[in-house]
Amino acid sequence: MTKTFISIDLHSHSTYSDGSLSVRELLTLVKDNQGKYQALTDHDTVSGISEAKKIANELDINLISGVEISVTWTGNTLIHIVGLGVDENNSQLVTELDKLRNSRIERGKRIAANLAKIGIHGAFEGAMSFCKNPESLSRTHFNDWLVQQGHAKPGKAFDKFLAPGRVGYTSQTWATLENAVKWITESGGIAVIAHPGRYKFTRTKLGKLIEEFKTYGGVGIEVISSSHSLQDEEYISSMCQHYGLLASVGSDFHKQESYRTIRPGFNKSPSKGLQTVFPLLGIKETDLIRDNNEQ
Ligand code: AMP
Ligand code: MN
Ligand code: MN
Ligand code: MN
Repeated sequence: MTKTFISIDLHSHSTYSDGSLSVRELLTLVKDNQGKYQALTDHDTVSGISEAKKIANELDINLISGVEISVTWTGNTLIHIVGLGVDENNSQLVTELDKLRNSRIERGKRIAANLAKIGIHGAFEGAMSFCKNPESLSRTHFNDWLVQQGHAKPGKAFDKFLAPGRVGYTSQTWATLENAVKWITESGGIAVIAHPGRYKFTRTKLGKLIEEFKTYGGVGIEVISSSHSLQDEEYISSMCQHYGLLASVGSDFHKQESYRTIRPGFNKSPSKGLQTVFPLLGIKETDLIRDNNEQ
């Protein structure tokens, strides 16, 4: 079956969180890839949106204001909720995201202290040297430093040190699912479950998440994501349809040469028969067809 690609990407990161490209570099890449609609969805921050809007305007790209909120669900499971079409000046959203980010420095110190216990010293300063906006200090920055120092092979630092259960990991309480959806929705945006395939939930557990998410007003789910295998795509598409959610698509771009496979600016089209989030963002599906259907 031929795949259809569409000029829209509703999930990407810049140096405002744990992406390695500045907003300008990211949007230039999007333009090179003939992207027309691009959401910037940095982790727990909307600080990059006003700069992104200006640059997108110069480059003739439609910038969708977005955010990816870290959520702690059912005890200590970390999930991500993407907000699209949010008002980046909404005071509740800005204040609550500020509070959420404030915990990142303290958490970074705990991660570094854990690594010091096994003889890896200087991790806090090391991770900070990879981080352009200190308040957005992420495990990704620890990953980059650990790899640079030769403590882990590229792509292996999470499994070795940073994933739950590993020595560098430290638990953290993020937003509640209810609050994340509320902050997004009350700022005029729509809430979308990010990369559900990553969570490796049973069908029952994913169904429970979706039902709870819908009660709070959540409407979308990422069907196409760099984190998804073809099997994941089919499975999540069927869940999307079954639960009456709207399909979203996102490269989840962080950097070039990454394990994530989709380049920023475009995505595969969700399978026919799925309703998408596009109309809610004022986007016509006919406007997304690419002149050149090659990846
Ligand atoms: P944090 O928000 O600081 O807990 O960091 C989470 C970020 O780490 C995610 O947004 C991903 O970008 C990255 N990440 C999570 N798991 C992995 C992994 N297994 N390999 C590489 N990056 C990962
Ligand atoms: Mn990330
Ligand atoms: Mn994520
Ligand atoms: Mn992401």
